[in-house]
Amino acid sequence: MRRLALVVVLASVAAACSGPTSVSTTATVISTTTTEPPTTAPPPPSTRPPGPNETLTSIGDPYYPGLGNGGYDVARYDIELTLLDGGEIAGFTTVTAVTVAELDRLSLDFGSTEPVGDGLVVDAVRVDGAPARWDHDGEELIVTPPAALAAGATFVVEVEYSGVPFAATSRALPIGVGWYEGASGVRYVIGEPDGAHLWFPANDHPSDKATFSISVTVPAGTFAAANGSLVDQIDDIGTTTFVWEEDDPMATYLATVVVSDRYTLVRDEAASAETGIEVRNVLASDLADDPPAPLGRTAEMVGVLSGLFGPYPFDEYGVAFVDGFGSALENQTLSLFDTELADAPILDLVLVHELAHQWFGNSLTPRRWEDIWLNEGFATFAELLWIEAEGGEEAYRDEIRERTRQVRAFGLGPPGSPAPSDLFAGGVYQRGALTLVALRDEVGDATFFDILRAYTDRYAYGNVTTADFVTVAEEVANRDLSALFDAWLYDDQLPD
Ligand SMILES: [Zn+2]
Repeated sequence: MRRLALVVVLASVAAACSGPTSVSTTATVISTTTTEPPTTAPPPPSTRPPGPNETLTSIGDPYYPGLGNGGYDVARYDIELTLLDGGEIAGFTTVTAVTVAELDRLSLDFGSTEPVGDGLVVDAVRVDGAPARWDHDGEELIVTPPAALAAGATFVVEVEYSGVPFAATSRALPIGVGWYEGASGVRYVIGEPDGAHLWFPANDHPSDKATFSISVTVPAGTFAAANGSLVDQIDDIGTTTFVWEEDDPMATYLATVVVSDRYTLVRDEAASAETGIEVRNVLASDLADDPPAPLGRTAEMVGVLSGLFGPYPFDEYGVAFVDGFGSALENQTLSLFDTELADAPILDLVLVHELAHQWFGNSLTPRRWEDIWLNEGFATFAELLWIEAEGGEEAYRDEIRERTRQVRAFGLGPPGSPAPSDLFAGGVYQRGALTLVALRDEVGDATFFDILRAYTDRYAYGNVTTADFVTVAEEVANRDLSALFDAWLYDDQLPD
């Protein structure tokens, strides 16, 4: 997510805008379909050990005890959504998971303690094909299988639900998360950090990653995008179903959909050829016809970052511009940007920031929310690396001085343990980035980038803690770095 400074920039952009661009042309929905079938391989075995603080309704993250659930490890989500009239959806989510202990009950995060209207209502639950009892209260859907599930058993929970999805205030920052509808009519999901369970039942915590299939049925003429690759497009009488597959592990908060009758999938063949990944963007017709110039530099950005961080971790990348959330968010393989950013002078930096999250946050995902600087500090540091790639070391040093000045001027705190109610505090971004600047200065360029590449390689597609990064840094540098990390991550005082 890109938060700091963006608010200021967006405010000035908004002031300069005369309102949403009116678009009269209808988007052309992509007509080519791939023949690759959805993955049918069995789910991977459980990799998540049971945590010491797990309970039925908590995975044990002390920052947000209600998030996640104990006792199982999700391998895969198959989410099927049908968009109906009046903003209503019909949902059918299949959760394939492995128990980490014997279970006579299990809980999925789903819904809100403060629903808008009736929210999403559960219509049926099955476990391994058999009807199961359930109790849906607030954010928890507690399911009682017909028989207890043995430890280490693979099981399948199917949940049918319906209603009008909505966004609710996050517990981690004062914005809405969940299901959005922009003034243009585009519907999309902002899941970070606790919005995923507002549109599908989930073990909604980043420590439980899984593969995803997201299938969206919409009226004919409407386009629907999600994470990963478009593997099927099924036209029926009056409807089209878009089937998307993300076959690399993904945290629930990074799952997304973008639905609009004004949007189209724009494949960037040149960038795909240059990067070796599938580069595609999801754009309204006006931006598809006249895309912002920095969007044409995706291959260059992938090249710079993969040269420094190690190989790009996924099979696809692209962005979608949507209106109404005032920020940018690094959904896996499909980052979302507010349309007001399309004209912003910092668009290239925000593009680099969200792209860098594909390594830091999406491939290497925090095991606990307290360590969010492992996402935001690194993605903000990537902005500095892009400035350096563009303008050389002097530009890099100038930018560091400017950001240091901002940290001091705004009194931004240490990034290591932000308040649970202000997870995305400015210090997490800017002092987090300066922590990496300080480490680079301390160990030198060669060792520093060896550290980053060793870290992305060792923990690819997995979960990380701050201690994991410190361990890799000390191993590669072959020295104790605890004083540096302690001062930069946890001291109120900004180190020199
Ligand atoms: Zn970010």
